Amino acid sequence: MIKPTLRWGSLTPIRQVRRIIIHHPGAVRYSYLQVHNQHRGQGWSGAGYNYYLQKNHEYYELRGLNVGAHAANNNSDSLGVCVEGNYDVEHIDEELFLRFVQEVRKLMRQHGLTANDVYRHSDVGNTSCPGRNFPWARFKRLIGQTEEVKSIVYGPKEKEVIYVKAGDFQWASGKERFEQILNRHGNSNEQEAYKNDELTVSDAFGVLAKGVLAEPSQTVPDTHKEAWEDLTKRGVFNGKNPNHPITRAQQATVAKRIEDGM
Ligand SMILES: [Zn+2]
Repeated sequence: MIKPTLRWGSLTPIRQVRRIIIHHPGAVRYSYLQVHNQHRGQGWSGAGYNYYLQKNHEYYELRGLNVGAHAANNNSDSLGVCVEGNYDVEHIDEELFLRFVQEVRKLMRQHGLTANDVYRHSDVGNTSCPGRNFPWARFKRLIGQTEEVKSIVYGPKEKEVIYVKAGDFQWASGKERFEQILNRHGNSNEQEAYKNDELTVSDAFGVLAKGVLAEPSQTVPDTHKEAWEDLTKRGVFNGKNPNHPITRAQQATVAKRIEDGM
């Protein structure tokens, strides 16, 4: 979390955080500073959101625990959390979405809130915010996961598989592989949480997803090994990315190579 130095007008601390309200700025590219300057320009004390996640994954504390200006008549007991983009016209990037899930989960934990306390701006105001394409049902499902990974990630000295189940996803991996991915793709908060045994399911899933997206597994499952090696030797496949999905066009090439007797 980055706490930038900004000039603010007068701010009032929130007495008790009872809700989280989710927003998009409604602009495909919009930095936290643009938000701040725009809102100041409107005569507000500064950026109206409490927290802001940019598309480059930089996560900013703006109003923090001071009363925001993000949802009319709903600011005094809520945190406005905003993710850069215009989800009326675009679809949110998967990694950004998972990061956003993680950050909202952290705020829920800090303030003792459940998924029932998390709303869209459009639930409390006349707006489409956070956008018609924002995957709200999936978001609610992921932030509602309560199981902690420590119950399914085995202790540091054990060699068992890590099994992560969150929402639509299941992922199994060796502990060493997981740690590799965490070291390569995790952020320092996630590494800290892992050390302290506090990583949540969606945190761990986020780490795994980042690793999986970045480096598709090159391990061929035993049941397909013989066929894979044989067809690779014959040049039907190039031997790369055995776990990537295949398109219809690629399938046509494969069929043609077989027909041509490769
Ligand atoms: Zn909004």
